[in-house]
Amino acid sequence: MAKPHALVIPSPAQGHVIPIMELAQRLVKQGVKVTFVNTDVTHKQVTSNALKKDGFGDLIQLASISDRLEPWEDTNDHCKLTKSILKTMPENLQELIETINKEDGDKVTCIVADGCMGWAIRVAKQMGISRAAFWPASVCTPASALSMPLNDKMIELSETTPPIKPTDLSWACFDDVGTIEAVFELVKEVVEASKMTEWFICSSTTELESATFSLYPQLLPIGPLLASNRLADQSGHFWQEDSTCLAWLDQQPPCSVIYIAFGSITIFNRSQFQELAISLELSNRPFLWVVRSGMTKETTAAYPDGYVERVGSRGRIVSWAPQQKVLAHPSVACFVSHCGWNSTLEGVTNGLPLLCWPYFADQFHNETYIRDIWKTRLGFNKDEAGIITRGEIKSTVEQLLGENTFRAKLWILKKMLQAVLEKEDAHTKILAISSSGYKIEIQMP
Ligand code: UDP
Repeated sequence: MAKPHALVIPSPAQGHVIPIMELAQRLVKQGVKVTFVNTDVTHKQVTSNALKKDGFGDLIQLASISDRLEPWEDTNDHCKLTKSILKTMPENLQELIETINKEDGDKVTCIVADGCMGWAIRVAKQMGISRAAFWPASVCTPASALSMPLNDKMIELSETTPPIKPTDLSWACFDDVGTIEAVFELVKEVVEASKMTEWFICSSTTELESATFSLYPQLLPIGPLLASNRLADQSGHFWQEDSTCLAWLDQQPPCSVIYIAFGSITIFNRSQFQELAISLELSNRPFLWVVRSGMTKETTAAYPDGYVERVGSRGRIVSWAPQQKVLAHPSVACFVSHCGWNSTLEGVTNGLPLLCWPYFADQFHNETYIRDIWKTRLGFNKDEAGIITRGEIKSTVEQLLGENTFRAKLWILKKMLQAVLEKEDAHTKILAISSSGYKIEIQMP
């Protein structure tokens, strides 16, 4: 008998690929065949990394389609790339589906696409295939897109939803007009997707975003989707993880290490990078710092003179960490984070105090959740030059680590989330595809 067969389509960004890959693995667990469709570029990055290590790797087929008009097109030009995605990918996806349906016994029965890939939902609708949009970030973002502002007042969906400055909307925080236009196009895709999809599922939970979920009942919480919760490795990494830092963590005292990581996109200017480096040196605490390749324009040269030697074994610097494992490690005391949604979920489910250092777009909404709604954080203040100084970083870390009220609140939040994670089976059943109609069957637990 033919199996239900889902095409799972992420947006080509690290913070989108990891959670939807986790969703794909859970679909496999429910007996669904999955073809995971990346763009050609992302496909190359992902296949050279973590998938092979994971038990579900063999059960997921990886496919790719081109996202550009010409092979030499510049991926760093967001504007061009978005335009070419919208022009090329719908046709390429349709061709892929037709080929699978011709050659594979298990025809495509549904499409689960990232909410930013509204065009994929459109293709599914045109081809009469069941469809679900998946949102990998805080539900506040699609909710704000669904209530597009017509003026420049703060957007406040409810009293317990982070108010959003129009300038922090996903598209408005960039400097160049091309990127603003490109991101605006993607947000329009989210709105389109929400109109055409049968399900709009989100990597979040009512425990964290109750007000927004009650305002938008069409957005369905199925998160947090964390591989660590099923004792598996995170999959879908664009970079090779440096797991040696886990052995280094084993050697540190419990609750002593500052973990610093800013996700996959954040870029630091030289002086801010150096202030952070010096503050970690001055902290006199062990620290584990992810310095991604390309995080500063100069990378190695950006460290102050003699820095790495002076810090010695007290500081561990890696280019990509097995983050979920790091955050679950008992030696980690706090997390200095850019507040990407995945990092936020991974931090709070481990009951870790977060020091918020948002960089752009939804990271500011996430900071508001952490600071004002869940009340579990401290943040940094910038000086007149817009820099977070070494003194500010050092004293805020000290204050956070000496503060017990955060720990009590975090403990309550962690317990609440653990209860959600224990209902995991109910959540994964939500994703099962009924054998009769090959529809995505969603029943809220
Ligand atoms: N991550 C990781 N190793 C690192 C840094 C990040 O595995 O050294 C993972 C992290 O666990 C999270 C994802 O990369 O799942 C980053 O997503 P997030 O939404 O936090 O940030 P983005 O990269 O989208 O800005």
